[in-house]
Amino acid sequence: METELLRQMIERAATRIAEHAEELTALDRAIGDGDHGINMKRGFEALRSEADRLAALDLAAALQQAGMTLVGKVGGASGPLYGSLLVGMGRAAAEGEGPAGMLAAGIAMVKRRGKAERGCKTMLDVLVPVQERLEGSAGEERRALMRGLRETADAALEATRDMVATRGRASFLGERSRGHLDPGAASSRLLVHAVCEVLEAEA
Ligand code: ADP
Ligand code: MG
Repeated sequence: METELLRQMIERAATRIAEHAEELTALDRAIGDGDHGINMKRGFEALRSEADRLAALDLAAALQQAGMTLVGKVGGASGPLYGSLLVGMGRAAAEGEGPAGMLAAGIAMVKRRGKAERGCKTMLDVLVPVQERLEGSAGEERRALMRGLRETADAALEATRDMVATRGRASFLGERSRGHLDPGAASSRLLVHAVCEVLEAEA
């Protein structure tokens, strides 16, 4: 992947996050402290303002720097976690991994940092199924794959509704966290959509 694509992905992600910031905040108000939309919007607007500079770097360096920006600007629990995701992806890119390997490495860093697994009602409940769908996609036509990844993210977000949170602020609610979508899973779904939209337009 070239960094020009990364620039477009940052733009698209910042736009999607801004469009849905209210929604993310409402979800976080239900089972958290109501700042997820604001946090993500702040972080992705900061990334947007760096997009040209990042696009001049190689992909590995661009992802690592983008990750550091998210750590610094998103704040909350999700900032360091999304930062870890991008830093992990950047390291894997430097080692020559493709998209599936990069996402796997990013997820591994999120899991380590947050001491979480799939099923804890977090962003991982979208990221892990999307990575698995990508992993099994060798030879698949681009448009079908992008549609498949978006549908996987949609279903994975919906599946967080019935989960009980065992990590993050929502875990303080215990059983009362059931019946609500996880805000971080919702933002991860938006990011998956943004990336897929850019790659689909390229096909
Ligand atoms: P905070 O909870 O500090 O207010 P945000 O509201 O920005 O931070 O982000 C909350 C989201 O972060 C949650 O919905 C969840 O998806 C994600 N999250 C929280 N803790 C963890 C964790 N340990 N591992 C993975 N994701 C987490
Ligand atoms: Mg919050």
